[in-house]
Amino acid sequence: MVRVMENCLHLEGLRMTVGSGYRCPACETRLDMDGVARWVREAERERDEAYSMIQGDEFGEIVRDERQREVYRRRGVMYELQSIPQAVMVRPEMILVIHDALADSYKCKIFYKEPRPVAGLEEIEIEAGWKSILELRSHPDQIVRLAADRVQEFHKQRDDALKKSDVPPGRRVFYANEF
Ligand SMILES: [Zn+2]
Repeated sequence: MVRVMENCLHLEGLRMTVGSGYRCPACETRLDMDGVARWVREAERERDEAYSMIQGDEFGEIVRDERQREVYRRRGVMYELQSIPQAVMVRPEMILVIHDALADSYKCKIFYKEPRPVAGLEEIEIEAGWKSILELRSHPDQIVRLAADRVQEFHKQRDDALKKSDVPPGRRVFYANEF
């Protein structure tokens, strides 16, 4: 299987996505937990290869150290993802909803207090229609539900403006006290 962005080491770590996958913010590769485990094993294999090289030269030493560190780094990413309590609600600090006129959808950018929680979803796009909005209001992910609620409010506001022939607002910020 040919892998996309083979050279990306996912140096910024992996983030949760809607559903159960993980994504690299740098190259947008998506992995499930098995994929993450394979990614760790890949580094282990490369490290083992380095260890099987002839011992004793300085360059080989550097390569081995580097590969060992990469194994530890990837394991760290995996352990962090595995330790996320699935039901914990991470409260965002702010949700920015932007209406994308071309795609006729709402893009939600979700902001958290630092340090950003690993389980915190950062972006979600919702089609600008009552049906898709209402559907996501009963989504299993709490952050998705929270965002869908805000989008519903904003969609209604835009709808009302259109009915009065006003120019509907293109974006709106919701702060934590409005959730
Ligand atoms: Zn990547």
